[in-house]
Amino acid sequence: MQEMKPPKKPMAFYYIVVLAVILLFNEMARPYFDQQQIEQVDYGTFMTMTDDQNIQKVEIQDNKILFTDKDGKKYKTGVMDDPELADRLHQSGAQFSQDIKEETSPIVSFFLAWILPLIIFFAIGQYFSKKLMEKGVGGNSMMFGMGGNQAKIYVPSSEGIHFKDVAGEDEAKENLAEIVDYLHNPQKYTGIGAQMPKGVLLVGPPGTGKTMLAKAVAGEADVPFFSIAGSEFVEMFVGMGASKVRDLFKQAKEKAPCIVFIDEIDAIGQKRNGASMGNDEREQTLNQLLTEMDGFEGNTGVIILAATNRPESLDPALLRPGRFDRRVPVELPDLKGREEILAVHAKKVKLADDVDFHTVARMAAGASGAELANIINEGALRAVRSGRSLVTEADLEESVEVVIAGYQKKNAILSDQEKHTVAYHEIGHALVAALQSHSAPVQKITIIPRTSGALGYTMQVEQKDKYILSKEELENKIATFTGGRAAEEVKFGQVSTGAANDIEQATKLARAMITRYGMSDDFDMVAMETITNKYLGGDASLACSAATQERIDKQVVELVRKQHEKAKQLLEENKDKLDKLAAYLYEKETITGAEFMHILKGGDPDEQVELADTAETDEKSQTLNLE
Ligand code: ADP
Ligand code: ZN
Repeated sequence: MQEMKPPKKPMAFYYIVVLAVILLFNEMARPYFDQQQIEQVDYGTFMTMTDDQNIQKVEIQDNKILFTDKDGKKYKTGVMDDPELADRLHQSGAQFSQDIKEETSPIVSFFLAWILPLIIFFAIGQYFSKKLMEKGVGGNSMMFGMGGNQAKIYVPSSEGIHFKDVAGEDEAKENLAEIVDYLHNPQKYTGIGAQMPKGVLLVGPPGTGKTMLAKAVAGEADVPFFSIAGSEFVEMFVGMGASKVRDLFKQAKEKAPCIVFIDEIDAIGQKRNGASMGNDEREQTLNQLLTEMDGFEGNTGVIILAATNRPESLDPALLRPGRFDRRVPVELPDLKGREEILAVHAKKVKLADDVDFHTVARMAAGASGAELANIINEGALRAVRSGRSLVTEADLEESVEVVIAGYQKKNAILSDQEKHTVAYHEIGHALVAALQSHSAPVQKITIIPRTSGALGYTMQVEQKDKYILSKEELENKIATFTGGRAAEEVKFGQVSTGAANDIEQATKLARAMITRYGMSDDFDMVAMETITNKYLGGDASLACSAATQERIDKQVVELVRKQHEKAKQLLEENKDKLDKLAAYLYEKETITGAEFMHILKGGDPDEQVELADTAETDEKSQTLNLE
């Protein structure tokens, strides 16, 4: 798509103004500079020099006489009432003349004196008001007589985004295909009396392709695309936002059929609550948006798409039928989706033959489309860094880890003792996971520090798509989280700070089990917490009395403690394996799941292992035990 820029005043206009100013200045300043080299003398000297015939040329002006001597030196003197001057000059043989006063035509002088300054002031005023408008500090549009609309208009072109560019997200595309069909063929819908929804809300976590989908709808339907971010409506001055909304809809109606895309609509569409003061601007903007949406008929061909990752915060008035009544979820891609997204973005880079998107996609569980695009790019950068011209599988696998855990810290120097501790810690996670049933197999263990602060991590990859987890599986997960600390205790008899991240994750999981999944004996199926922010981290807020909170806290501690004890016991029983594996990891720094399993099953560490993948089947989620 190309972006159409709003028409500008031709640049030539500004050049002419600047040129005029320079010329004028030049004209005024020249005499001043010329006079700098002219010596001023009294009239007597002038008369003496005339008599001495030492004068070459004389120019008599209104109020001064300019003359040069035989050597060409310049002088000036004042004019005196001297009727014989001409005679004397003639006798001295000097060349002389009276300045002929050039009468400037009255039109030109009027232009110079009045019109030109006006033009200059106007141009300067225009320039500054434009600057101010750009910064959004401008007054309101009526005052300046120009619209403050900043919606960027895209006109479809051959290289526009289409549905095929948006990989995965099949459900969302299916849903939006109807709108494309309507834009192509409205009679089909109006004929039967059906009305298209005016507004469609794209809901999902950041970076899942909501903007892309909106552009693709415009691309597929071959209609203009207006895009504006919700935050652009919210200006410093009250009333600006509302006038922008008006302008946007005016433009859109002129260009109909078309797509209007409002990104981050939650910036203006947040729930209004009567109490809050100082949000006048946002409220007015929202009201204007509601009015505009009601104002146009369902079948004008203007379709409004909006994106948000906080649907729960939107004002109910915005969501009622006739406004944004259709909601299209744009979720994080599943394994197949991730593979497709990788393939789409990999078209931009040169790939080696060994690249297998399936493996990369499996490693990058939970990654959004934007992160996958980033993984491909990081891989390409890594290839360049190591002086290769093709992106290899290793590049991509490393960049998955970079995106998840940060870069390798090559020069972080761990002491020998620290390295031992980290090795035991990571093997602790992996071993506890492997010794329990229903745990995701270990894919990789490493003790190379990362810039995220992790000193090492154990990567587990689920064997197949998992949509529900049993209580036992969740408990095992908690045990796995505690496995790192448990190994340190079993081996060294002391604890370290290295388990901070594990503790956080174990607590979060245990808390969710008790407050949200109804997995405690005490509370039965009563929700003690509600999720407030599904797509942005999933914060939860408590919904119970203080007394209940106390009981919840106790139960959380109990639950984690039980799993921690279990992990310690498992490791005690398998201490020989723990030692063997930790020594191997200490030596190698990074080992694969296959090597891990080989040694666990009693294999010889020095024996070459078949580097087969531990998890061949599809998976959905992956657990990373950072630290
Ligand atoms: P959102 O609006 O949901 O935050 P965007 O549409 O802006 O996300 O996506 C950001 C970038 O991520 C896109 O420019 C694209 O490169 C990549 N991306 C995200 N989802 C997909 C997808 N499904 N297919 C291909 N690329 C994607
Ligand atoms: Zn850990």
